[in-house]
Amino acid sequence: MKRILIFTAGFGEGHNTAARNIQDALETVAPDEAHVEIVDLFESCYGRFNGVIRQAYLTAINRTPLLWKGIYSLFDRTTLVEDGVSALARMRRSLDWLLREVQPDAVLCTYPIYNYLIEEIFRDGRRKNFSHITVVTDSITINSFWHRGPSDVFLVPNEETAVTLRAAGVDEARIAVFGFPVQLDFLEAKEIGLGEELGEVPRVLYIINSGKKKALKIVRLLLHHPRWRATVVVGRDRALFEEILRLAKGSEEKLRVLGWTEKIPELLLTHHALISKAGGATVQEAVAARCPMVVTQVVPGQEEGNFELLRRRGAAFYAEKPRQIMEALEELFAAEGRLWKRVRSALAGISRPDASMQIAQFVLDRAAIENAAPESLPGFARMSRDLLSNGAPEPQETAQVLLCDFHIHSTYSDGRLSVGEIVDFYGQRSFDCICITDHIVDQTRFIGRVCQLTGLVLSPDRVGEYFEVLQREKERAWRKYRMILFAGLEFNKDGYRAKSSAHLLGIDLQSPIDSSLSLPEIIAEIRAQEGLSVASHPHKFQSVWGPNTLYLWENQEQFAPLLDAWEIANRDDLFAPIGLKRLPFIANSDFHKPKHIDSWKTVLFCEKEPKAIKECVRLNRNVALTLYRRHRFGSLLRCPDEELLNA
Ligand code: ZN
Ligand code: ZN
Repeated sequence: MKRILIFTAGFGEGHNTAARNIQDALETVAPDEAHVEIVDLFESCYGRFNGVIRQAYLTAINRTPLLWKGIYSLFDRTTLVEDGVSALARMRRSLDWLLREVQPDAVLCTYPIYNYLIEEIFRDGRRKNFSHITVVTDSITINSFWHRGPSDVFLVPNEETAVTLRAAGVDEARIAVFGFPVQLDFLEAKEIGLGEELGEVPRVLYIINSGKKKALKIVRLLLHHPRWRATVVVGRDRALFEEILRLAKGSEEKLRVLGWTEKIPELLLTHHALISKAGGATVQEAVAARCPMVVTQVVPGQEEGNFELLRRRGAAFYAEKPRQIMEALEELFAAEGRLWKRVRSALAGISRPDASMQIAQFVLDRAAIENAAPESLPGFARMSRDLLSNGAPEPQETAQVLLCDFHIHSTYSDGRLSVGEIVDFYGQRSFDCICITDHIVDQTRFIGRVCQLTGLVLSPDRVGEYFEVLQREKERAWRKYRMILFAGLEFNKDGYRAKSSAHLLGIDLQSPIDSSLSLPEIIAEIRAQEGLSVASHPHKFQSVWGPNTLYLWENQEQFAPLLDAWEIANRDDLFAPIGLKRLPFIANSDFHKPKHIDSWKTVLFCEKEPKAIKECVRLNRNVALTLYRRHRFGSLLRCPDEELLNA
């Protein structure tokens, strides 16, 4: 069961309407899948005080629209809202408590102030473990109050509003256009809606929301019109209702009077025109029903956008005085409704009667996505943010676990498999990155010259060929196995004693390097080629397969700053001192024949891409060792059949 909270406020008319309609749609789309609650924290936290604020708001917009415009634009231009958030401490505490108690999968805000409170609550570095969705209920000239607050995504009623958000710097990916969430009843538009002809007797719907005197005047004019029929929705004003009822007595055919009604969608769908003010929900409902509208009042600021939405489509008629309202209707219906038809088809372009259902489906999908993500530890979230702000590289979104072996010998030196066989051998075992590092000796040294005679090291005249073969195999390894193959060399600088002997790996070399150069010179060459220099088996072997090579370790003050990493493990040996010294490490098989595959390997967590792999080793972050084993018990690592291994 998904838990969904919708936060709203009773200011203006659109917020509650949107909240209610989305709730209805969610319960229709997924009756057994979602539990939806609507919460008005202004109501529950401020109680009577809230009533005062609301009354002040309603008084302001009805009596002194210009004053309201001033307040509205003040909100828009200053950071008054953000500063004021601290004063809303009580609401914040309630919201915090609610989020902890309910553990919602999705939070929808149809009133923007909740976004600021949520930002405050999660200032402690916790990650939001719900999908955070803002439903913008105004259009076009929307207050920046809407988009200055944080939200995963903004659902907007139309393309023009999306344009406004984009212009304000909101990322495209965080905006979705579904239409205003109107009541589900509009889905019946096809069944009960009007046809495309005006007919003999146009029907006019008047939703009263102006002063009493003006309302009575309009009703009288409608009543006495020779042709039209009208329906008047009075609302909750009982006295006005009685009075209009008396006026209409005897003419019930011509004028139907309704008090408060839930049937607005049906009325809009069955009338040819609407007289009302440009409230957010009213305009959107008229659009959904494709009902042309004569607007009698536009509250400066927030309602201007609603009116603009109609005006841009030539569907806006503005008339304040009762006489002008009638004239506008006459014009609309003239010549068998030529203008009326044009407006109807213009409204078809923005009519979204199924918006609530679309939004409900979107919310359910988003709730599922967020649910899958575990909540990270509070400390970790803050830590990683600090790391990022200190300029550390951002973790790659495409990072993956990579199995690597950077120390392999082929038949070019003393290995048993050819380069091609190595690629197939490792590729079939699903390695992600390997480096072939045949021995190359320093012929200025006596031992080097002796080794050269054995034919068990890469001879200088074959180095060029070696690089060419590797280049070819690189392409095949990627094509066939999605495995990265690096060309490398192991520089053998052997002396008579362990302490004067060193083996150095050059990983991802682009061209041969003169092996008679000094170690620091070779390291500089490797760096110039953007390769990695790694000390191979730098400490004492426990196994007795080769003479120790301790020169780099003995001279670590000089070499630690120059080298990119040290082998902390080589085949079966672990070199604990490398760890004790906190040196950057990798682990390799020093592969010479198939059975050497059972050995220490490096596991990286980074993007599968040469630069990223080398950077991961250099930074020595997200690097691990693993002891690779054939699948005697079903290996964790990917291992096909193993005949070759017993060779
Ligand atoms: Zn070696
Ligand atoms: Zn080796």
